[in-house]
Amino acid sequence: MPKRARAGAPSDAVDEQLARYRAMRDFAMTAEPSGAEKKQASGEELPFVVQKHAATRLHYDFRLGWKGVLKSWAVTKGPSYVVNDKRLAVEVEDHPIEYGGFEGTIPKGQYGGGTVMVWDQGTWEPVTDVDEGLRKGQLKFILKGRKLRGHWALIRMHGRDQGGKPSWLLIKEHDEFERGPEDPAITEEAPNSAVTGRSLEEIGAA
Ligand code: MN
Repeated sequence: MPKRARAGAPSDAVDEQLARYRAMRDFAMTAEPSGAEKKQASGEELPFVVQKHAATRLHYDFRLGWKGVLKSWAVTKGPSYVVNDKRLAVEVEDHPIEYGGFEGTIPKGQYGGGTVMVWDQGTWEPVTDVDEGLRKGQLKFILKGRKLRGHWALIRMHGRDQGGKPSWLLIKEHDEFERGPEDPAITEEAPNSAVTGRSLEEIGAA
């Protein structure tokens, strides 16, 4: 399958996918991108980003670029290299591709108010068919980030969270990158921004 064709999508399809994202935000109030640029993933690589987000509760937004948007999951505890640590990943609205470059503070009172850090970024490579995986709730892929590498899976569970959103599990698969329960957690070992090296406090103060 040619990756170039899979990475792009007609812009009206992207607009449709971003309708929910846009409806939830007031772009006069927040510096988050509206996605109006309709920026597509460039080249053959599919982008991936994890944003550490100090909202009401700290969580990690895990995003995979696919067909002109970032498919997104909120991972409360963040990713873990320990295969047995199945991390709850609540599916959230698709985000614009350029959201992956957003590091800053969403004003209080706005949706997701709080500080956002680009905790990791890089590219990803599907191992299984992506559209089918998203539909069936079983996605396997390789991450090539600064912090997250190797084989991972997202598996959808039955039922939804209290807000009606589908719940998935983010799971590390066995490979040379996996860690044991005694090894340092990647979220603690490498807590700062992958692009600016800043801490959440430093981003919030800027
Ligand atoms: Mn978030």
